[in-house]
Amino acid sequence: MSNESTLLADEVLSSLAERKRELHQRQCLNCRNRAEKREMLRLVVDDAGEVWPDLFQKAPGRGSYLCMESTCLEQLTDKRLGALRRNFDVKLPQCEKLLQRLQEALQQQLRRLFSQHRAVVVLGRDAVMHQMWKSGPLLVLLASDGGDALLRQVTDAVAKRVDSGSETLLMQRFSSLFLADVVDREKVSVAAVELSAVSAKLYPFCVWYERLADRAG
Ligand SMILES: [Zn+2]
Repeated sequence: MSNESTLLADEVLSSLAERKRELHQRQCLNCRNRAEKREMLRLVVDDAGEVWPDLFQKAPGRGSYLCMESTCLEQLTDKRLGALRRNFDVKLPQCEKLLQRLQEALQQQLRRLFSQHRAVVVLGRDAVMHQMWKSGPLLVLLASDGGDALLRQVTDAVAKRVDSGSETLLMQRFSSLFLADVVDREKVSVAAVELSAVSAKLYPFCVWYERLADRAG
């Protein structure tokens, strides 16, 4: 093949790839930005005009999408939800109700995922600190009300792991009550999850939950 035709083939391939990316993108109902569909929250409207989060993007019917960026969530309003009226008979106001439903759905999903991955979840300060010495990728969940001493100990250990090149994700806006609920224990201030291809599913839901918690202040 001549250089020219190689170039042409490259061009065709890259425009096909671009087209494919566009097909999988959706516009956010609220902020109007475009993003990958699978990274967005799908919303569905039932016959009664109620809006529901569809975490698995599998509910029947037509959906709309939210990008779930922090700024977008902060600015989500009933007026913006009104855009759904182009396609559905939607009850308004219900922005706060939707966010409440989303928070509940996320909490339920996290509870389910934590119980499915019980084998790779470690709970409590001693077990988590011990786990930090190992090099595998780790998701660390630290309760915001776990106390200054624990906060210092955990953030120092996370910083050291990051310095040494061990992948570490730290989430620290959950309450100890929330943590205890999702891991099904009485009281937990810190937990860690070995991140495998499977347990990594937890992370995006944790991020969404934190953003919602931030919005609530
Ligand atoms: Zn958005």
